[in-house]
Amino acid sequence: MDCIFCKIIDKVIPSQIVYEDKDVLAFNDINPAAPVHILVIPKKHIGTVQDISSEDKDILTAMFSAINEISRIKNLSEQGYRLIINNGKAAGQEVFHLHIHILGGKDKLGPMLTR
Ligand code: AMP
Ligand code: ZN
Repeated sequence: MDCIFCKIIDKVIPSQIVYEDKDVLAFNDINPAAPVHILVIPKKHIGTVQDISSEDKDILTAMFSAINEISRIKNLSEQGYRLIINNGKAAGQEVFHLHIHILGGKDKLGPMLTR
């Protein structure tokens, strides 16, 4: 499948990995919108929220556990951070492999949108 994030998972395309486990990969966004801008993705190809099934419960839990771990690694837990999912065309989703943006590293994060 021609999916850029699957290629990042397979390490065919390089990325700056900040966290990895059996279900989840997290890496720096190539075009950061905040001092800390990390994308958290499932290793299983899931295109959009509509493609999530009841079989994916453990994956979703793993994604949020990863977010917690990353927030500790990056010292964001106390200050807080924003999570964003651009889901589908109207939201401007560019990469159709489910991902959660973590935005942080500022006292005030400003506008809600990533773009
Ligand atoms: P969206 O689908 O709208 O949530 O946005 C996709 C995000 O992926 C954008 O913030 C891009 O900067 C980011 N992105 C695209 N290609 C890469 C890449 N090769 N490595 C890291 N981030 C990427
Ligand atoms: Zn994919």
